[in-house]
Amino acid sequence: MLDTTAAKQLPEELCVVCDRYKEYGIRLYTSYLCIDCEKEIISTETSDPKYKYYLEQLKKVTSS
Ligand SMILES: [Zn+2]
Repeated sequence: MLDTTAAKQLPEELCVVCDRYKEYGIRLYTSYLCIDCEKEIISTETSDPKYKYYLEQLKKVTSS
């Protein structure tokens, strides 16, 4: 039987936003964003204080 999971399986890496090791996510330059945080960011309103937090975390990616 073939494994038909949609997400590509990668070794666990440290997510730059939640600071946890997650199995699924995307690479951003030299950093890593887990799929949970990616979903959170997409579904968060830009007026939500949480959104600002995510942006701050993501700044670490582009400034390094
Ligand atoms: Zn995360």
